[in-house]
Amino acid sequence: MPRDPLSVLHDVFGYTAFRGQQAEIVSQVISGGDALVLMPTGGGKSLCYQVPALVRPGLGVVVSPLIALMQDQVETLRQLGVRAAALHSALPPGESRNIARAMRAGELDMLYVSPERLLTDGLLDMLDDCKLALFAIDEAHCVSQWGHDFRPEYLQLDTLATRYPGVPRIALTATADGPTRRDIAERLKLQNGRIFVAGFDRPNIRYRIVPKENPRQQLLSFIRREHPNEAGIVYCLSRSKVEGTAEWLRGEGIEALPYHAGLDREVRASNQDRFLKEDGVVMVATIAFGMGIDKPDVRFVAHLDLPKSLEAYYQETGRAGRDGLPSDAWLAYGIQDVAKIQGLIAESDAPERQKQIDRQKLDALLGYCETVRCRRQVLLEYFADALPQPCGNCDTCLEPVEAFDGTELARKALSCVYRTGQRFGVGHVIDVLTGSETDRVRQLGHDRLSTWGIGRDLSKQEWKSVFRQLVAAGLLIVDTEGHGGLHLAPDCREVLRGEKEIHLRREAVKRASRSKSGGRAVRALPDDPAEASLFQALRAKRLELAREQGVPPYVIFHDATLTELAHARPRSMTEFASIPGVGQAKLLRYADAFLEVIEQHVE
Ligand code: ADP
Ligand code: ZN
Repeated sequence: MPRDPLSVLHDVFGYTAFRGQQAEIVSQVISGGDALVLMPTGGGKSLCYQVPALVRPGLGVVVSPLIALMQDQVETLRQLGVRAAALHSALPPGESRNIARAMRAGELDMLYVSPERLLTDGLLDMLDDCKLALFAIDEAHCVSQWGHDFRPEYLQLDTLATRYPGVPRIALTATADGPTRRDIAERLKLQNGRIFVAGFDRPNIRYRIVPKENPRQQLLSFIRREHPNEAGIVYCLSRSKVEGTAEWLRGEGIEALPYHAGLDREVRASNQDRFLKEDGVVMVATIAFGMGIDKPDVRFVAHLDLPKSLEAYYQETGRAGRDGLPSDAWLAYGIQDVAKIQGLIAESDAPERQKQIDRQKLDALLGYCETVRCRRQVLLEYFADALPQPCGNCDTCLEPVEAFDGTELARKALSCVYRTGQRFGVGHVIDVLTGSETDRVRQLGHDRLSTWGIGRDLSKQEWKSVFRQLVAAGLLIVDTEGHGGLHLAPDCREVLRGEKEIHLRREAVKRASRSKSGGRAVRALPDDPAEASLFQALRAKRLELAREQGVPPYVIFHDATLTELAHARPRSMTEFASIPGVGQAKLLRYADAFLEVIEQHVE
């Protein structure tokens, strides 16, 4: 086994250079120091402990809270020729004895283990007799009650500091604000270690928000146009909507599966397995899905309902594009969504203080949805990170929207709500504003109101956007029981009296006419037809090899490696070895099969 970090990176993982702070982190740990690493999803945390574990003599012990995640990592490492194993409650009988034997014989490079398992006397005693390279504590925010996945077992991991004083410890997480960060360092006794904070930006994710018109159709055309046959996650708020949407997509020829907590265990497990092991499955899910899913090639995350907060949104959309290739975060939202969440908060049994926090979080989310600025800048500022320049890879950057003085429009809208009696839904109020002569308008005599027809200068769609923004701004309230009737909020008095200006976002209308690729700099899949068809052939070969072994395709090669193969078309082992993601083990194991595909294809 090679003993310097760069050759481990190259020979085992097939990469030529460390990314970002990886090199510094790796050298801190190799030299025996502790580290706390805060890095966004897809930032490359795993290598930060995997490389030192292979460079330092002895066993690297990785604490991880989720079995699915452990198995995934172990499979990935085995494919790379690393001797890795996982100890957890779902192990077949006899297997843990085999692992113990391998540990004692020094035949294991890395051991993944759940915190509760690690802290049993049996395992600690065994580790006492092993040479240890390091401890890595993954998902380290689980130790903090400030964080969102508190795990009491994590608290006891501080014993590692006292019991194994000479063994470096590295804790890693993708989610940690200031208080959580301090909490992690303290509780895990990492105060003497170094803290590495990477920016939280995910530049390869394109953020986009569309006004909800016909959400299913919008989703379908988004998938068809931009992500045919690619893996994605669609989030919905309710179980019934998850099932309805999945079924409908299947009827439209999309390989979609449902996932929510109410499904049978087996069904859930099998759907998740298909999502991981097949190419191009779309998972329609409640937020119950995703934690611990390490699939690198999720090409899009779509929200058909508003997430709970920007934190939730960032975490959920962060499941796209872990492999660094271009990916989309797509959200459709409309006035009813705002009303629904406001209603949920109002009706919940939570104490008033909690409701206040929830309302603030919703306001931040709505501010993000209605912003005219670069979305990434708004997001990163919310997480106390900064992006000096607009990103160029979100909808507002690509199709700038303007803010305009909407005070006059707001007054028209509010007075029309008032004149019609504060009980009609947005559709009818817009009919009155735009001077429509529907049966209802006539029957109710609303065509005789002073506000009838005062809004003809805007289209219905534009009015919808105005109303949505007034609801988001808390000037109008949607009745959540009944028919979604609108009534005035106390705050709107100032606007009606002309004492307060309202700034609105002008929707970029006629989006449909926009070109397909929309100015994306890099593409996930090759554009060139010959390359694209070779890519598909390579992908088919990968799926075949994955099926034979019962592993997810991405543990064999990532899409990025296949794209590179399709582009470079290596014809020899040497050429093949130079492709990023091809280490020694994979070269020996897979080069022949893929070279053959390339050769056939080129002929
Ligand atoms: P995280 O755990 O932070 O979400 P991973 O460790 O899963 O991220 O890494 C994300 C992706 O980036 C993986 O596909 C990994 O192989 C790739 N990667 C990480 N470091 C490098 C590197 N130095 N060079 C090339 N690819 C890398
Ligand atoms: Zn932007």
